[in-house]
Amino acid sequence: MAAACIFCKIIKGEIPSLKLFESEKTLAFLDIGPLSKGHSLVIPKYHGAKLHDIPDDQLSEVLSVAKKIAVAQDLKDYNILQNNGRLAHQEVDHVHFHVIPKPNEQEGLGVGWPTK
Ligand code: 5GP
Repeated sequence: MAAACIFCKIIKGEIPSLKLFESEKTLAFLDIGPLSKGHSLVIPKYHGAKLHDIPDDQLSEVLSVAKKIAVAQDLKDYNILQNNGRLAHQEVDHVHFHVIPKPNEQEGLGVGWPTK
């Protein structure tokens, strides 16, 4: 845990979040600034800024949780994204995987970066 990290504060419950999944190693919650309806983030509870900072065993569940969310949301088209470093558009320095639904045009809210 890192005292100043927003996502560590979410893990500890110091900042509220809408949680979708939680286990000993992993947390998933809705993104506060969704790129589309249902946009969520899956994070290891272990604090590390970039992917290479996280031990493999702490990452082992992350993709399967992203998959569970895609299944639970019945997603057909979606992005799984993970940014490392400012040049790669990382804003929060705690590793996170985005699950970004890409709704069809009738459903709306399929907004903006990175899928248009
Ligand atoms: P990045 O650009 O680092 O890959 O994405 C960081 C994501 O974290 C953004 O999509 C942003 O909306 C989200 N985010 C930042 N602060 C908070 C917060 O306090 N709560 C939640 N739920 N999401 C956040």
